[in-house]
Amino acid sequence: MEHIGTFGASRFTAGDLQLFRGERDPAVAAALASCAVVRMARGRRIAGGGQARLYIVLSGLLELASDVHTGDDGGTSRILPGESAGEQAVLDDAVNLAAITALEDSELLVIEPDLVWELIDRSNVLARNLLRLLSFRVRAANALLRRRQKLGEFYRQLSLNDALTGLYNRAWLNEMLPKLVARAAQDGNPLSLVMIDLDHFKRFNDTHGHIAGDAALSAAASVIRGALRPSDFAVRYGGEEMMAVLPDTSAQLATMVAERLCQRLREAVVFPDMRLPLPHMTGSFGVASLAPGDDERALVAAADAALYRAKEAGRDRVCV
Ligand code: GH3
Ligand code: MG
Ligand code: MG
Repeated sequence: MEHIGTFGASRFTAGDLQLFRGERDPAVAAALASCAVVRMARGRRIAGGGQARLYIVLSGLLELASDVHTGDDGGTSRILPGESAGEQAVLDDAVNLAAITALEDSELLVIEPDLVWELIDRSNVLARNLLRLLSFRVRAANALLRRRQKLGEFYRQLSLNDALTGLYNRAWLNEMLPKLVARAAQDGNPLSLVMIDLDHFKRFNDTHGHIAGDAALSAAASVIRGALRPSDFAVRYGGEEMMAVLPDTSAQLATMVAERLCQRLREAVVFPDMRLPLPHMTGSFGVASLAPGDDERALVAAADAALYRAKEAGRDRVCV
């Protein structure tokens, strides 16, 4: 940055500066007059981490990329003539965290921190303008953080849910099942799984097409989700296999739940469109409950084995 003179010798006056708008005290104007004016060529950048100073744009255009403004979701703000940058760093006596880039050849008024404080003591107008500006910046930063947080939650949800069925996916199960098993074991509470595999689903696809297969899978997922308690979890284990995770549920109760799921699936209407032939859908169900010393793998293997028995015994049924 090139020093090109003082504010007093420039073509600008205090009335051009947003922070000093409404200030008529000649003493304030006199104090500003001795401040440096610098030129910042287009493309030049003041990296974050520099000494705290108040910069006021006299001409040109700056871009501010502050510490909360990392990333590209509208994380930069533009500073137009009359506007300022760096006031927060001056006020909390910290380094300037925001990087400033000149988008055009710009002239900047530079006010050193000591003088900023002196001017605040002297000028109520400046103090009020600063408060208003800071309040605006806090609001904007909060809004940005909230947006970020929402976006983060959205992506997290997305990564833990299956796109077709909306059920939890395998990644969710891998993360949560060990925790649920550990908690149940620690508290001495029961925990049961129902492993579900749709019957002859390959044939369903072959008969009705893959699109109809997807719709059937989705309908089956809704049936299962709809038949569980809010404290239960429905997971798409893979392909046409699903799983219900039932905390605080004994083997006996889980078997009743599985029987209910089996029946509801059998009665489910896959296509509400009555012009289509009504393909019906059944599933096989394997129930297992956490036994002392079991880890999550043993529990899943037990449910898998029970499911296999249900298939062997003729499908459309529950085995424990
Ligand atoms: P079984 O009664 O022994 O379970 O017979 P099955 O045909 O269901 O068994 P298998 O596991 O051999 O076949 C599963 C079929 O499920 C094969 C595959 O085309 C179908 N499938 C798996 N995922 C999807 C999916 O996302 N959409 C559709 N439409 N079909 C799927
Ligand atoms: Mg299968
Ligand atoms: Mg199957």
